[in-house]
Amino acid sequence: MPRSTGRLSLEQYVQGVLNDDRTTLARAITLVESDRHDDIELSGRLLDAILPRTGGSRRVGITGVPGAGKSTFIDTLGMHLIHDRGEKVAVLSVDPASPVSGGSILGDKTRMERLCLEPRAFIRPSSSRGRLGGVAPRTREAVMLCEAAGFENVLVETVGVGQSETAVRSMSDFFLLLMIPGAGDELQGVKRGIIEMIDAIAINKADGDNHARAERARVEYSSALHLFRAPASGWSPRVVTCSALTGDGIQPIWEMVLEHRRHFESTGRLAQLRSHQALEWLRELISQGIEREFRSHRAVARRLPELEHAVREGKITPSAASRELSSLFHCKED
Ligand code: GDP
Repeated sequence: MPRSTGRLSLEQYVQGVLNDDRTTLARAITLVESDRHDDIELSGRLLDAILPRTGGSRRVGITGVPGAGKSTFIDTLGMHLIHDRGEKVAVLSVDPASPVSGGSILGDKTRMERLCLEPRAFIRPSSSRGRLGGVAPRTREAVMLCEAAGFENVLVETVGVGQSETAVRSMSDFFLLLMIPGAGDELQGVKRGIIEMIDAIAINKADGDNHARAERARVEYSSALHLFRAPASGWSPRVVTCSALTGDGIQPIWEMVLEHRRHFESTGRLAQLRSHQALEWLRELISQGIEREFRSHRAVARRLPELEHAVREGKITPSAASRELSSLFHCKED
């Protein structure tokens, strides 16, 4: 179980985060990621204390298959935000472990070469592997901490796996899908569910020989998107091209993010979206809390591995196993 080492006092965490002290910010994120009972209690108080300073950032989710250019894109976009706009940028990642290898998909190496040297950038790799509570167990809390530390922009990166995309969508104001041109059968691999989640598609690598192909893909994706019903938000997803490598098209993408923000603010949609997300978050926390309690029940913890084995072997049905566990759970602990 991940644990925070060398805890600070509540006051030290709060002051450190509000002053954007990076060491404290990193430790505060470790604290909110911890599953230890006393850490959970302290992190609850920390989040309560910083709450008034949260909510102000632009929360942008970015997804795309491995190799689409996400890290290059974030590196270039981050440099634009820092140097052309004089802002700070935090990058968080939600990395679903590969269902096949169990290893990380996004990779742990620092993939944003220029950004990681920038004092105005904060990059926090994912640590969701082997954790209870879904693919993005504490990323929302990390977003809040970054906001309290004064980051105007929080980019949350993930990779094209359904569950993690849903999680990142549920904590972003704007959700961007990065694609690569010329894969042939356009819209291949783009699941309908994802199209319904996104605010824009950026066709990356629109440079050199790829230019024409990217433009063709843009036209095809645009017309494919028209087949979908116009969203109630009044924002129709757009398709643009860019090159993360040369920087072409990156600034217009950010201008689109800002336009979306203005639209959402002026129509009251942003507040609506955020309150809907808060409710979803509450529900998720309730299920995580119940699951944690369930799994830590002694009799359940003892019996669970045997029942999992029996289910795997086809000796008992999952519903019978879950009924047995739930009656164990409802018995008083011995
Ligand atoms: P990620 O796996 O989605 O994070 O993709 P990376 O950012 O690591 O990029 C994968 C490869 O594509 C790397 O070799 C990048 O240099 C290259 N790449 C990324 N963006 C561009 C681009 O805009 N143009 C070109 N030509 N190559 C790019």
